[in-house]
Amino acid sequence: MTQIKLFCPATIANLSCGFDVLGLCLDNAGDEMIVRKTEQKGVRITKIVGADLPMETEKNVSGVAALAMLEAYESHFNTIDFGFEIEIYKNIKAGSGIGSSAASSAGAVFGINELLGQPYSRKDLVQFAMQGEKLASGNAHADNVAPALLGGFTLVRSYAPLDIIRIDSPEELFATVVHPQIELKTSDARSVLKQTVSLKSAIMQWGNVGGLIAGLYTKDYDLIGRSLHDEIVEPLRSVLIPGFDLIKQTALENGALGSGISGSGPSIFALSRGKNTADQIAKAISEVYEKMNLPYEIHVSKINPDGVRVL
Ligand code: ADP
Repeated sequence: MTQIKLFCPATIANLSCGFDVLGLCLDNAGDEMIVRKTEQKGVRITKIVGADLPMETEKNVSGVAALAMLEAYESHFNTIDFGFEIEIYKNIKAGSGIGSSAASSAGAVFGINELLGQPYSRKDLVQFAMQGEKLASGNAHADNVAPALLGGFTLVRSYAPLDIIRIDSPEELFATVVHPQIELKTSDARSVLKQTVSLKSAIMQWGNVGGLIAGLYTKDYDLIGRSLHDEIVEPLRSVLIPGFDLIKQTALENGALGSGISGSGPSIFALSRGKNTADQIAKAISEVYEKMNLPYEIHVSKINPDGVRVL
């Protein structure tokens, strides 16, 4: 095999009570990527369609993640006398809050791993994809690249050592994600956070994280709904997103189990049981942004159990 074509899924991180630790993988929103073996050594980005992103390997997250992986491969296994080129077909807008950079980082390392004969597991690949995230945000976080590579829900239990747990989710669980077309800088979304939390808030938060995980394992939709509550970050960040309270309220009135900020915003997600409810929520929240005259994009997707996949 000398070439592989991939679907690189969008992801929702900072899932309500799971700020910085819980994420999920979407099924029908994502980029495509072609990774090709070349005679020339190294990694080159040869084509980017659909977005204005840097072509230089060291400035594109897919290039940085690929280089991190090849460096580890050559030091652990053997040196290689060929290289790789990457074509990126972007559908996920950078800065949307649904893991645009993570899709590219995860795709690059997955593709190269396939072309090398799978020396690494999907879980092993997370550490390399995280290096792409470091380029995008200054922080090698795993809460988007883990669900992009592993599918389902993922929990980043710890970074030192890296401990990622993949969590199955009930089959009828659907996500509705709306992306209002405004720019919300991650740095601004970070600057409103407080560095300390009260014990009372922390207790509520970890109660809900435990409840959410238990609800996913036992397919208890009511428990999932009761647990989708963010006591700590959402109250501070939601003020930066136009219409957030109304969108959330509309989602809940239309049957959502819960709703919150996707990533660092401005996208807003709602989880629901069944596609009909997810579609109904999409219709109702679209009307809110139409009335506000705010352009938006909307996705309805089941949870993707597999992560990056070969097309
Ligand atoms: P979000 O998660 O909010 O969708 P990201 O955290 O993915 O957004 O941030 C995207 C940042 O990463 C932008 O500054 C963008 O220029 C940079 N970037 C570099 N390479 C890529 C790539 N291949 N795909 C997406 N973003 C990239």
